[in-house]
Amino acid sequence: MSARPMRLRFAPSPTGLLHVGNARTALFNWLLARGQGGILILRIEDTDTERSTRASEDGICADLKWLGLNWDEGPNEGGPFPPYRQSERLPLYASYARTLLDTGHAYWCFCSAEQLEQERAAALAAGAPPKYSGRCRGLSREVAEARRAEGEPAAIRFVVPADREVTFPDLVRGPVTFHTSVIGDPVIVRSDGGPAYNFAVVVDDALMEVTHVIRGEDHISNTPRQLLIYEALGLTPPTFAHLSLVLGPDHAPLSKRHGATSVQEFRARGYLPEALVNYLALLGWSPGDGEELLSADEMARRFDVVRVSHSSAVFDTEKLAWINRHYMKVCESERLVDLAMPWFASTLPNLGPWTLSDPGPRVAVGSVLPLAVGAVDRLEEIPDRVKFVFEWNQAEASRLVAAEADGPKVVAAFADAIAEAGPLTKDSFRAAATKAREVTGIKGKALFHPIRVALTGMDSGPELDLAIPAIDVVAGLMDGVPSCVARVCRLLAPAP
Ligand code: GLU
Repeated sequence: MSARPMRLRFAPSPTGLLHVGNARTALFNWLLARGQGGILILRIEDTDTERSTRASEDGICADLKWLGLNWDEGPNEGGPFPPYRQSERLPLYASYARTLLDTGHAYWCFCSAEQLEQERAAALAAGAPPKYSGRCRGLSREVAEARRAEGEPAAIRFVVPADREVTFPDLVRGPVTFHTSVIGDPVIVRSDGGPAYNFAVVVDDALMEVTHVIRGEDHISNTPRQLLIYEALGLTPPTFAHLSLVLGPDHAPLSKRHGATSVQEFRARGYLPEALVNYLALLGWSPGDGEELLSADEMARRFDVVRVSHSSAVFDTEKLAWINRHYMKVCESERLVDLAMPWFASTLPNLGPWTLSDPGPRVAVGSVLPLAVGAVDRLEEIPDRVKFVFEWNQAEASRLVAAEADGPKVVAAFADAIAEAGPLTKDSFRAAATKAREVTGIKGKALFHPIRVALTGMDSGPELDLAIPAIDVVAGLMDGVPSCVARVCRLLAPAP
């Protein structure tokens, strides 16, 4: 008989954008599921009706797909244990809550928000951890039902057993123990009838037959509460792994004040999805053998949650940039054009009116990418790096040529040499430069610098033999962009 497949889940609350810390949680679940031939479930935890939105759910799904983290069961995909949105599972929670009430593991609580707040404040003032006093625990079921029948609002609380140790083996942290004396009876159903997180998650993980829960360390103190609920319901708990938090450089949890935090922001800054995935995997895990640059599939093959570090992971933008540079370099050229095009649309309006699917602009962008790849960290930086190809400033070029000792002489010789050369490639450019050297007797920097300033209008910039073919390709496609020949000819034209 084959072993039961691993079943994992990623369970986001759709209350905003997908934070990179949560994306890492999704990734670690994905790596384990894919590496072990398991199933990955997407469950939407939208019981906070005030804050949950469908737009956020859609955004999170789009971000996961962009990262390449696919799932097997989910709200739109279906699966054997539907529904996969908590807001559609309310009857299930109601039935399990009733079971807990019937078996004496839960009770109605009539405490008002003000009462609870007073208790909390008093506990804090006395230096004690705030914990529900258990005031309503002693109410008999009859009294409670009568008060409810009169319409008094009530929550349902779970009875935390006194004086117990709850221990669980955490795959990342080893055995973790909590004493029940620090745990107040948690609300499992709010007075508006909505299930609380700690309760819904138990019902769902059990019914969806989840075998492993990988989630953020911020949930570790919830785990003993959940284990006690599993026990009371006679359900088998999954195995837990709590990931350390992702921190900013100042060792505070990564937040807005550190810069980008959501997957959407990283995408908008021009990181490639495979770069972000590779980097996030290294936050707390290492593939071993000193290797760091690996595809998602290869990481899945090697991933072992037991080898995930329990110390906090500091987000290192420099390292992410290094990884992104690598993936831009190895990116297949047509795909890189697809990825880069949107940045050109917004930053180079002087390409004229065009759409992303027009062939001309695609060729133009494809021809300039070699100038940027390897030199920039992010897609966002490409247009700035190559804009000289599209925007040549004749006055500035003239000024710079004139400032060179042999500038005009070199440029004249070079103009003659390229007049015959046809479209300039790396090789025909080099041949023309050689010819200009033979004619003028000038070589090295004294030869190449005047050519550079003439053709680019800039004192420094990318390698000329990469820039020149790009200028010629762009010139052939774009109105008003002079070719190399036209550029040097204009410089040499006598002033009108
Ligand atoms: N909805 C919870 C969150 O986003 C999920 C926690 C869990 O994985 O149990 O934090």
